[in-house]
Amino acid sequence: MKIEFDRDTCIGMFQCVEEWDAFEKNMDAGKADLADSEEIEADLFVAEVPEDAEFDAEFAARSCPVDAIELYDDDGEQVV
Ligand code: SF4
Repeated sequence: MKIEFDRDTCIGMFQCVEEWDAFEKNMDAGKADLADSEEIEADLFVAEVPEDAEFDAEFAARSCPVDAIELYDDDGEQVV
């Protein structure tokens, strides 16, 4: 599973941080940071989700009020 984090859209509500510890608060930026991610475009970050973290990643994606987090399965289909 792959996660895409649109940091430009993020408004720093930090619900995701409560759901998955890969998301961290960045108080200076007023946005979340996604650990071990790669910036594939300006402010668009991608990371592989470890199998044992898939539930947490899903909760994080569903908790985001501005849909800044998307999840894709191994076939590239969007899950959340
Ligand atoms: S829940 Fe969404 S808006 Fe809030 S910090 Fe996480 S990604 Fe940003």
